[in-house]
Amino acid sequence: MKQFDVPNIYRSQLISAIKQKRKEQDKLKKDYTPTLLDFGSIQFYLARHFGFCYGVENAIEIAFRTIDENPGKRIFLLSEMIHNPQVNADLKARGIVFLQDTVGKQVIPFEEINGDDIVLIPAFGTTLAIENILMNKGIQIEQYNTTCPFVEKVWNRSEQIAQKGYSIIIHGKPKHEETRATFSHASHHTPTIVVNDMKETIELASYITGNKPAAAFYTAFKGRYSEGFDITKDLQRIGVVNQTTQLATDTQAISDYLKATIKAHFQLTDETIGTRFADTRDTLCYATNDNQSAVAGMLEQEADIAIVIGGYNSSNTSHLVELCERKLRTYFIDSAERIISQNEIIDCNWVTKEQSRVAPFLPSNSPVRVLMTSGASCPDALVEEVIVKLMGFYATNQSIEDILKGFL
Ligand code: SF4
Repeated sequence: MKQFDVPNIYRSQLISAIKQKRKEQDKLKKDYTPTLLDFGSIQFYLARHFGFCYGVENAIEIAFRTIDENPGKRIFLLSEMIHNPQVNADLKARGIVFLQDTVGKQVIPFEEINGDDIVLIPAFGTTLAIENILMNKGIQIEQYNTTCPFVEKVWNRSEQIAQKGYSIIIHGKPKHEETRATFSHASHHTPTIVVNDMKETIELASYITGNKPAAAFYTAFKGRYSEGFDITKDLQRIGVVNQTTQLATDTQAISDYLKATIKAHFQLTDETIGTRFADTRDTLCYATNDNQSAVAGMLEQEADIAIVIGGYNSSNTSHLVELCERKLRTYFIDSAERIISQNEIIDCNWVTKEQSRVAPFLPSNSPVRVLMTSGASCPDALVEEVIVKLMGFYATNQSIEDILKGFL
């Protein structure tokens, strides 16, 4: 995997050493057991895979290089670079201006930018409509496009399916930047619709089977289908792709449900299902798979609490919290500052995004065992800060430097 030039402020010497060591020991990435950092009275079990993914490092490298190489130029970002508040704040502090918010609401009108400006496209990608606006203004979009290749892979897969005459169903959060971009690219080639979850999938399936009147579809899925979508014929041959950071098991369940619906309704067999249901198993992102598998491996370890670190609007991070919560008490924080004291933490609800104070949050037993992971847009430096803050509450028998030596 390519190495990126990411500012040192986002790195952690300890975590880089751990990741390097684990990589050397497990080149094929088959071992999902967590890494134990044993400080005596507090023990951390770090997930096998966590933190910056390929797409995030690529986007950060391009953004900071663009700033360094273009002094005096106006530099805009279409919206948040990635879903991490620290990285976005750092970019703003260096003069980058965001044109839209995360749900696509315009903050700076496009009329205010011109061909002399630089506009960075974030890792999530953007819509064809916005690409056209920028190109019509003479703004160069290739050089400053940080769209992740794994998102583009989904677009390419959608196009391939479309060329074979299938409609596309996107499993994604309808307002998320990536889903809006994928919807735009897919619907350029074929009828396309977005489903958020299994409940909506079951609803959609009832229009395939005719259990619900076709006319009701347009109200039930308002704003989710492409222009000209014809419910009487556009759900007869389908393929499912996803927002790359969805829960892998959710996408699989949605895909399986729709496949079973098509199979039963059109009386197909395993041999003939391909005529109406495209095989799209390969659209999941590698980082989503790795991080979710690593959490599954981490959860096999007995522990007292789990802490997940990442931006609150980060889809992939929220799913890691969702997985951990199924097993044990989990706290979702975006920085060490959310740990107020040994007794109190500010926890974010991954569903509602509401923050609340929880006290006490650390158990009284010894040693305290903490499972820990972070999202694909979270700097490793933040994870180390959380470890250091928690260590400060205990009489530990080893320092960070002692632990580091074991991984060098
Ligand atoms: S989570 Fe996956 S798709 Fe998203 S930026 Fe990272 S590597 Fe790319």
